[in-house]
Amino acid sequence: MAQLSDDCFAHGGALLSVEEAASLVIARVPPLEGEESIALSAARGRVLARDLHAPQPLPPFFNSAVDGYAFRHADLIPGQETALRLEGRLAAGQAAGATLTPGTALRILTGAPMPPGADTVMMQEDARLEGGSLYLPPGLKHGANCRPAGEDVAQGELALPAGTRLGPAEIGLAAALGFATLPLTRRPRIGVFSTGDELAAPGTPLGAAQTYDSNRFSLLALLAALPVEATDLGILPDRAEATHRALHEAAASHDMLLTSGGVSTGEEDHVRSAIQAGGSLVFWKLAIKPGRPAAMGVVGGTPVLGLPGNPVAAIVTFLHLARPLALRLCGATPARLPRFAAIADFTYRKKAGRREYVRVSLSHGDNPLPTATKYPREGAGLLTSLTRSDAFAELPEDVVSVAPGDTVAVLPFASVF
Ligand code: AMP
Ligand code: MG
Repeated sequence: MAQLSDDCFAHGGALLSVEEAASLVIARVPPLEGEESIALSAARGRVLARDLHAPQPLPPFFNSAVDGYAFRHADLIPGQETALRLEGRLAAGQAAGATLTPGTALRILTGAPMPPGADTVMMQEDARLEGGSLYLPPGLKHGANCRPAGEDVAQGELALPAGTRLGPAEIGLAAALGFATLPLTRRPRIGVFSTGDELAAPGTPLGAAQTYDSNRFSLLALLAALPVEATDLGILPDRAEATHRALHEAAASHDMLLTSGGVSTGEEDHVRSAIQAGGSLVFWKLAIKPGRPAAMGVVGGTPVLGLPGNPVAAIVTFLHLARPLALRLCGATPARLPRFAAIADFTYRKKAGRREYVRVSLSHGDNPLPTATKYPREGAGLLTSLTRSDAFAELPEDVVSVAPGDTVAVLPFASVF
């Protein structure tokens, strides 16, 4: 990583946009090396390490898409009913056998191979069978109701490119092409620290002036949805030396470290200086609300992201910085968080020059788009603003106000968490 001065991002300096920060993160960290062969059943959410080409066409052979009758389209008499002699039957799994004689039709079931010579299938509902003869109405198109070999994927075609994150459809496609295992990228090892002398671990008694550590658990839960191996590294005290040492030690066994808290300008904020002492600090003030202070750097060769301490800010900055960085390490093709349109039913004013994530509930009325109703309180520390809402409304940098009826972009929690 290039040694970057943090002067330009220092207190009172220009704020860094979310996009600038995310691209700094991506640009400075290469994907991890190495791949592993993983069974399809364990591949969900993981990332393909290499392009997957089709070893054979999909479907592998010309077959019927319906239960019906296979015949030669040229046998149909234009504009009137055609009678064909019915001969033979093919079910799914049976070999195609002999060439279809002109003037005959063959009973065929869905998924059965088309006999040589046949090119069209009439659905059984559309045909009339009478005394061993089949009566076909006119008007059916050549090739109707059948699936050519390679209709989905041709032999040799790139089916899934390297960098693809595997969901149910991708896993299904890989299976359909005959792969039992896939070459996947390594799961980055990501360590998560909380910082703060005020923090107590849930399950332990709460001392005077203490509050329970929630960020570690939110962040580990967010990481659980990514193809990574997350480690809980506990709580760091507000001491520069201890913070520095812990980051260095953890760096040796992790591909990325995440901290929350201690990243602002207070005299007990030691994460930023610990990252700086370890090498290079890349940025630390973001034009985003909630979530302004955030730091990124490299300690002992391992990227470290210092997220803000306030619980909502930690989650918002995770989505914009930690998530893309983790996926970058996985070799995933970069993808934007999904945004959808909604209609605001609230009035809101904000400062220009920074992006805000307002918590909203989504409801569905007569309007085709959902209505976004703002959670009444905005604090960056209010976890209930997330548990009692459905989505972030994303208010861009140049927007200074929202009025009822305005279209806003929303990021539903269900699609980003
Ligand atoms: P800091 O940036 O360390 O000053 O933290 C900002 C606010 O977030 C303070 O009120 C902290 O107590 C709170 N905070 C920091 N870390 C956590 C955490 N892990 N869980 C819950 N609250 C936290
Ligand atoms: Mg703190």
